[in-house]
Amino acid sequence: MSDYDVVVVGGGPGGYASALYGASAGLNVALVEENKVGGCCLHRGCIPAKALLQAAEVFRAVKHSGDFGFRLPDGVQATTDWPAVNARKAGIVGQLHKGLSGLLRRRKVTVVEGRGRLTGDGAVAVGDQTLRGRAVIICAGSVPRSLPGMEIDGDRIITSDHATNSDRDALPDRVAVIGGGVIGAEFASVFTDLGVHTTLLEALPHGVLPIGPDRQVADILGLALARRGTDIHPAARVGTLEHNRNGIVVPFEHAGGAEKIEVDQVLVAIGRRPFTEDMGLEEAGVRVSERRFIEVDTTTMATSRPNVYAIGDCVDTPGLAHVAYAEAIVAVHAILGETPVPVDYARVPWVVYTHPEVAWAGLTEAEAREAGHTVEVHKHSFAGNGRAMIIGDTDGMVKVVAATDGPILGFHLVGPWASELLAEGYLAVNWEALPSEVAAFIHPHPSLSEAIGETMITFSGRSLHG
Ligand SMILES: Cc1cc2nc3c(=O)[nH]c(=O)nc-3n(C[C@H](O)[C@H](O)[C@H](O)COP(=O)(O)OP(=O)(O)OC[C@H]3O[C@@H](n4cnc5c(N)ncnc54)[C@H](O)[C@@H]3O)c2cc1C
Repeated sequence: MSDYDVVVVGGGPGGYASALYGASAGLNVALVEENKVGGCCLHRGCIPAKALLQAAEVFRAVKHSGDFGFRLPDGVQATTDWPAVNARKAGIVGQLHKGLSGLLRRRKVTVVEGRGRLTGDGAVAVGDQTLRGRAVIICAGSVPRSLPGMEIDGDRIITSDHATNSDRDALPDRVAVIGGGVIGAEFASVFTDLGVHTTLLEALPHGVLPIGPDRQVADILGLALARRGTDIHPAARVGTLEHNRNGIVVPFEHAGGAEKIEVDQVLVAIGRRPFTEDMGLEEAGVRVSERRFIEVDTTTMATSRPNVYAIGDCVDTPGLAHVAYAEAIVAVHAILGETPVPVDYARVPWVVYTHPEVAWAGLTEAEAREAGHTVEVHKHSFAGNGRAMIIGDTDGMVKVVAATDGPILGFHLVGPWASELLAEGYLAVNWEALPSEVAAFIHPHPSLSEAIGETMITFSGRSLHG
């Protein structure tokens, strides 16, 4: 029997952030992880996926190096050394894993290896150990979803878990990505840029990012992918996948009728589900929804069982690592008896690391209008931005949605380094800044951020370069 202030179950972003933040506040924390600390994000998600996207970015730059005045000798073409790309990615993951393990050690967090199960009396059993805490935080995360007819074999029919941990010698020639959401779009972008013939099949009427971002912004990504060769089929209903001697046959129906394509690999990216089975939740009195999300009061992240909290992908809030971090802080504040500042889920930052990148915070134009706001919308393209021309990447725009004579409600980007540029828009939305207030701030020249300043100035009815 061990005694802790907090027992954390699951060592992904939600779990390790709870442990680190709790320990920094002086709490004695145990962290239970059945796999590797870092969770999906570090080992199968954010980090490896972004490392692959960066490799694709470099490959694109090499292919277009002629635009910058560099010449490859005649007949020489850049090719992908897939094992080397994966080795670089694995190196980054390994370094971050080592760093995180060291940080947990230095903060004196007790890491317990094994699967944690809640017991009826609110303790956590791990093998034959029982860990008791004044509080428990469940951070069990999520796993990829699949459907009947799309049985995952990890080789020809895969999920992002396999795509981020490929042990193939070379990329497949032809891939079908099923699902045009964030994960599907990011992998379609990687595969397309690395020269794989990529077909993207999405059941909803818009083929790329059908849910979430502002439509205008998402459509610019869709067009950019299509121009680079991604074969995008919206409103496509995929049937049962069949293996044949050459690969996988993917049947689908769309507006144009029924079709079949043959590919070497299928990436199923139709969403994720909470990983909340077989951990004693019901026995311990922790209420779980029909879709198996743990039910919480988001002002404290408390579950239906006193002193048991849940955060991250296992609760029904945006499935993002940084949301899990923020929820960890809320739960730890509640455990410390302080007053947490709850996460404002309608205004969290979202980033899709495709090429071009898409990023936003707050309401889309359609959402703002549906919510009854009278809105004013201004946009500014990167096409005339000096820095965008210098880096050779002018596709995209800034779009700002504000209440008429009122604050900024939504900030939307598609284009180069949108992921980094979002920080300013995120602050503007969450500070409920007026466009005129942001317009008064200076943006360095030459920089991509000037496009943000230009957009804000346009709200005054005047403009600089717009
Ligand atoms: C391909 C891909 C790309 C992504 N890219 C991004 C991105 O760019 N930005 C972003 O913000 N988010 C991204 N995400 C989402 C992000 O990975 C998740 O939101 C985040 O990992 C959730 O953190 P978590 O702690 O809730 O769960 P997880 O990261 O899933 O961690 C849960 C951990 O708990 C462990 N566990 C579960 N149950 C038990 C148990 N009973 N006992 C012991 N251990 C247990 C698991 O082994 C796992 O390590 C991406 C996801 C994928 C799949």
